[in-house]
Amino acid sequence: MREMTEKQLLRRENRLRAKEEKRLAEEAKAQKAAQEQKKLDEKYMGQALKLAKKAAELDEVPIGCVIVHEGKVIARGYNRRNTDKSTLAHAEIAAIRKASRKLSDWRLEECTLYVTLEPCQMCAGAIVQARTSRVVIGAMNPKAGCAGSIVNLLEMKEFNHRVDVTRGVLEEQCSQILKDFFAGLRKRVKEENTNEDKM
Ligand SMILES: [Zn+2]
Repeated sequence: MREMTEKQLLRRENRLRAKEEKRLAEEAKAQKAAQEQKKLDEKYMGQALKLAKKAAELDEVPIGCVIVHEGKVIARGYNRRNTDKSTLAHAEIAAIRKASRKLSDWRLEECTLYVTLEPCQMCAGAIVQARTSRVVIGAMNPKAGCAGSIVNLLEMKEFNHRVDVTRGVLEEQCSQILKDFFAGLRKRVKEENTNEDKM
């Protein structure tokens, strides 16, 4: 076997070092991009949470949604099922309708939908039908969620469109607003029952 000269060894070492430096730089770049995306996701989820609060003010289950296109919020929605007396009045459906109007297109390609609670089967279906690029979810909904809890309609390989899904953004706040709402509701029901007992 031919032995490497010192010069060859040195060159090889330099090549390896340059390669490693390049890898590290790429890794740092990807990490930075992920951090920036996380910050953006939290910002938009914060806006969805504000809409959830609007629903709570109407005595509706607090769920909020915003749709972002090219770095801008183009549509907002919040749950109004009881107010509108409509099963279609979910936050996501309202936002999808507005976004389509805004873009003059039923396709929501290049759009990211932020929602405080994991979508139900109707909304997950509409999200896929609209060919939404990405969905960011706050809290999961083990009892009714269709983005991974019961089924995962957003990422089924059998459909011609699959959504890029991020879960758990501002999860605690998104879940807390629901817990507070239901705790308040239980308290009110209890008080009403006690009042009835007194009558
Ligand atoms: Zn829904």
